[in-house]
Amino acid sequence: MVGNSKRAPLYIKVNPADNVAIVVNEGGLPAGTRFADGLVLLEEVPQGHKVALSDIAKGTAVRRYGEVIGHATRPLPKGSWVEESSVDLPAAPDLDSLPLATLSLPAAKKLEGLFFDGYRNADGSVGSKNLLGLVPSVQCVAGVLQHAASRIEKELLPRYPHVDGVVALNHSYGCGVAITAPDAEIPIRTIRNLAAHPNFGGQALFVGLGCEKLQPERIAPAAAAAGCADLASSSAASAAAVPASGSLPCGIIRLQEEAGFDGMVARILALAEERLAILEKRRREPCPLSDLVVGMQCGGSDAFSGVTANPAIGYASDLLVRAGATVMFSEVTEVRDAIHLLTPRAATPAVGAALVREMKWYDAYLARGGADRSANPAPGNKKGGLANIVEKSLGSIAKSGTSPIAGVLGPGELAKEKGLIFAATPASDFICGTLQLASGIHLQVFSTGRGTPYGLAMAPVIKVSSRSYLARQWPDLIDIDAGKIATGDASVEEVGAEIFQLIIDAASGRKKPWADIHGIRNDLVLFNPAPVT
Ligand code: CA
Repeated sequence: MVGNSKRAPLYIKVNPADNVAIVVNEGGLPAGTRFADGLVLLEEVPQGHKVALSDIAKGTAVRRYGEVIGHATRPLPKGSWVEESSVDLPAAPDLDSLPLATLSLPAAKKLEGLFFDGYRNADGSVGSKNLLGLVPSVQCVAGVLQHAASRIEKELLPRYPHVDGVVALNHSYGCGVAITAPDAEIPIRTIRNLAAHPNFGGQALFVGLGCEKLQPERIAPAAAAAGCADLASSSAASAAAVPASGSLPCGIIRLQEEAGFDGMVARILALAEERLAILEKRRREPCPLSDLVVGMQCGGSDAFSGVTANPAIGYASDLLVRAGATVMFSEVTEVRDAIHLLTPRAATPAVGAALVREMKWYDAYLARGGADRSANPAPGNKKGGLANIVEKSLGSIAKSGTSPIAGVLGPGELAKEKGLIFAATPASDFICGTLQLASGIHLQVFSTGRGTPYGLAMAPVIKVSSRSYLARQWPDLIDIDAGKIATGDASVEEVGAEIFQLIIDAASGRKKPWADIHGIRNDLVLFNPAPVT
């Protein structure tokens, strides 16, 4: 890193082999600016955008992070602005010739004796929140469920102070879909695993319509197996005229069997109150960090993401792994172009092969839709200095830290291994959030450069800004400012340790991230690669 003062012109060169660097100063720097090492800008360069550190001939490799991010489409003299159109998109790494599990990483020192305060469930799982979950089998019931959820919130929750909230898992699936298509398993297991999330304490309430393709039993195996015949009697107060409910599996409501809108809502409220009484008894207790599952994501990235927020998140990830926790990173399209740096870190050749399998699946998925990897990045990413998906990916994978990759999950699958896991999801913020929740995260750490007010209802989201300007612009949305790494006011390790501590405090309910203070909840958005009918 060159430069010694916040006000002095400053650029960041990530790797000694790089022939470009990014401008740190807010507002960018004008032509004629001279850096401490004598480099002079030939033209204005916006903040976060790249400057050529040496003369780069047309067709020559442009290097950042020590990797080729493309080739110069025209001569780029030393000191010129290396903007998007001056770098081509190189071919993606060949998936059939990748080194698998070739890197023998030194065993990191274990971190012992660290705890967070979680809600221990009967099955041994731990929750980071105490929530009543309302689970629709089909979108048809979502309107009624939302109405019921808001009445539960207003009328019932005040009497259950130990319950943090009620969440209706409204989604767009359940009918009008090719439910036997092979890929239909992805949205179905996502709903099933969301309903079984430890934050619901095994008390999620299932609500179906009756005639839908996705019958509630398929997402509620436990409720269906319970075979309770007391659904009608236990909620007798709720609806006098309720036909046939006694024959239903315990805990599943079907709106087509209820008496009108009032009957539906009354039935949901009555069963919700039974669940709330159970949830009210839950208390936090010290749980080892090995019980914690944390997801990492980025959204609205810029050129700083890969040198400030994401490396700091990676440092926190390494600390979590050393403490025995599970850490997930995701976003297939944002690791695809850096996959050659990840497969060597696979713990075993089988894990490496699973990484390749998920990349190939996504390549085929994009090809089927007539798209390719150039569909990413977004216009805002480019405005933030990212030339292409290669540069974005190299910054994105910094979130994974340096630990060996212990396992790979398909979209929405439950985590089996502890340690660092690649959970294959689209990069789309809300879909990645939904799928990581289904895979069992207790909390998500989210880095952003351009800024997004993103939040999840089911788990705390800690937002880390890659630039200090954003942290000042949104002081009531950004939880941690990693921009101070760019200006030399903090180290990656210092911000990483700050993130690690906030993860523990937020998972323990001691500190609320801004998204929870404001109650910001993005929609659950299922990933359905199967046909809609
Ligand atoms: Ca994302």
